[in-house]
Amino acid sequence: MIQTQFEARRKTLAAQFERLGVEAFLVTALPNVRYLTGFTGSNAMLWAGPGKPVLFTDPRYGIQASQQTNCRVRITKGPLEKAVGSMLRRQSIRSLAFEADRTFCSTYDLLRNHIPRKIGIVPASGVLDNLRSVKDATEIELIRQSVNLCSKAFARAVKKIRPGISELELAGEIDHQMRRLGAEGSAFETIVAFGERTALPHAEPTNRVLNSNELILVDMGAMRSGYASDMTRMAWAGRPSRKAQKLHGAVLEAQLAALDAIRPGVTAAAIDLRARQVLKRHGLDHLFVHSTGHGLGLEIHEPPRIGRGGGTRIERGMAITVEPGVYMEGFGGIRIEDTVVVTDTGCEVLTPTPKELLVV
Ligand code: ZN
Ligand code: ZN
Repeated sequence: MIQTQFEARRKTLAAQFERLGVEAFLVTALPNVRYLTGFTGSNAMLWAGPGKPVLFTDPRYGIQASQQTNCRVRITKGPLEKAVGSMLRRQSIRSLAFEADRTFCSTYDLLRNHIPRKIGIVPASGVLDNLRSVKDATEIELIRQSVNLCSKAFARAVKKIRPGISELELAGEIDHQMRRLGAEGSAFETIVAFGERTALPHAEPTNRVLNSNELILVDMGAMRSGYASDMTRMAWAGRPSRKAQKLHGAVLEAQLAALDAIRPGVTAAAIDLRARQVLKRHGLDHLFVHSTGHGLGLEIHEPPRIGRGGGTRIERGMAITVEPGVYMEGFGGIRIEDTVVVTDTGCEVLTPTPKELLVV
């Protein structure tokens, strides 16, 4: 990505300093460091304040940091907090914001020990999460690519579904296809469940093998160029039962209603409510045990949460999932999930995979 993009994001962050009553921001969450610099290593802090931004990392990332960013890079063998403290002893700032909701107590303690007492450390939560919830054009393009990759991998992997395959084997095939298509990996542990196990919303794949006339649930996502995708599709081995078809139809109706409710200005709760209202009409709302969706981007779960009480106003450029589901113990569960991006007038469903109950 071009460096001007990261510079623009750092400028947007700096524009918040006055409201926060600080002169600088210490970024400790790695996805936020990546968002602001392009650096993808596993140990870093970013100092954003007066003057050039400084990226603190360790010797493993010396070359990588200078290749990926245009920040000043400080390599340190000890704790990053200590290096931040030594730099601050030569600065005249009085206050500094840190990511209170993203910082370990141990990190905070180290910072407080190493940063001169006269500098106030001000807790600031959700500042970068809020900025990140509205995606720029580059990010939307990367999410689109991730979504397309995910759907391609799904199309390839479903060819392997036949009675006798295990949940783990199918999950392995999905992960393999995502990698082959250029993903860095999966965006989360791939969920594959058969039969009654589909009633577990977050089923972990097991050795359970597929029988004929059973439900199949696949919830998968790719990480591509750092950006996540997320999709759930349902299949049936053999000829779908009436009950499965009915439930699938109701969930699909709820999903389409929620998609239809998305537009700038509505609250997240209003979108969630639409899905719930449809399921209520079918007498199924009590079986919908999670929220309707979530934001995604550099991380698989980001604000806004599309759920009950979600007061966030939806804005153009937000990337969210829409994934109502119903779960019946002993029978199974149905969930249908797409990744969408909010437009000026509604939303664009990025996921190209058809949503019908796939018969395999
Ligand atoms: Zn999912
Ligand atoms: Zn999801």
